Amino acid sequence: MNNNRLHLMRRTAQILFILIILLAPVLDIFRFDSDTRSLILFGAEWDLGLKQGFYLDHSIESASHVAWQFFVKAILPWIAILAVFPILGTLTGRFFCGWFCPEGALFELFDFLTTKILGRRGLFIRKPNDTGVHAHNRVPYIFLTLLLMICIPLFAGVALTGYFVNPRVVWDQVIHWEFTFGVKAGIIGVAIYIFISSLIVRHALCKYVCSAGLMQMLFGWASPVSLRVNADPGRLAACTDCKGCERVCFMNVKPRLPKKDINCVNCGECIAVCNKELGEKRGVFHYSQSKLCAVPPKELIDKRKHALSHIKTSLGGKCCEKTCN
Ligand code: SF4
Ligand code: SF4
Repeated sequence: MNNNRLHLMRRTAQILFILIILLAPVLDIFRFDSDTRSLILFGAEWDLGLKQGFYLDHSIESASHVAWQFFVKAILPWIAILAVFPILGTLTGRFFCGWFCPEGALFELFDFLTTKILGRRGLFIRKPNDTGVHAHNRVPYIFLTLLLMICIPLFAGVALTGYFVNPRVVWDQVIHWEFTFGVKAGIIGVAIYIFISSLIVRHALCKYVCSAGLMQMLFGWASPVSLRVNADPGRLAACTDCKGCERVCFMNVKPRLPKKDINCVNCGECIAVCNKELGEKRGVFHYSQSKLCAVPPKELIDKRKHALSHIKTSLGGKCCEKTCN
């Protein structure tokens, strides 16, 4: 796949998923209505489907009906929801985090802006894979960052409060600037969370806090068939040690290391950057759903020994006889 196309596809997937998250309550696809205390799913009220006056009927038939409805309408859907991330992890590792997670996309946006202003991703610490190069003219980026730091948390607060209060009610209160306690608390709470996580925590949240990420990480790590980004030992011979794959990794993974880092979110940015450096389809990394490596190109095998010793020094002696695991 063309490098830019991979990058473009990921950005498109992230934007589409953000739109889905923002529009789901507005279009009544999924939300809880605090007025009626009911769940709205695809425009319909999700109820347990219990017969009228079931509590007056003490027969076995009625009890079985209640138990069955609870199982089908309450327990099974919960099991299905809870199973989503383990199943995703088993099949695709943390692909969802890298390609769809709205928070991940937001953190990447602020990583980009902070790099333009400070030459590093973090506000306080410089990581080894930071470029150290900031924009020549930092002023527009500073203004843009300040603007987004105010607008995004507030907009997210309004949009996400719609998951608990009818979005029409929320927007009506915003337009008239008159808020009930619930709506005000929802907007402020979400806005503070988005502000702090985007400004300070960022991908540390993906690594150490997010339970969805943790489930995908554990199941992906244990699964023999989960999608992963593998480094091909045969192609490592052609590595120029440009370090592009490390610089581009917002999860601070060193993808050339022999042991797979469980923090990799399968975003594919290292694949794109390495293909750019070494030529289309000649890059070191590739997606794989097995632990097997691609067959090393013949002409590279001879050069491999010399190259590996060079990369080994660059990676602190940890490289690289076996990378596809
Ligand atoms: S693996 Fe590719 S991107 Fe990484 S240092 Fe080597 S040539 Fe550069
Ligand atoms: S190692 Fe590559 S695929 Fe994994 S998170 Fe880093 S850049 Fe993305």
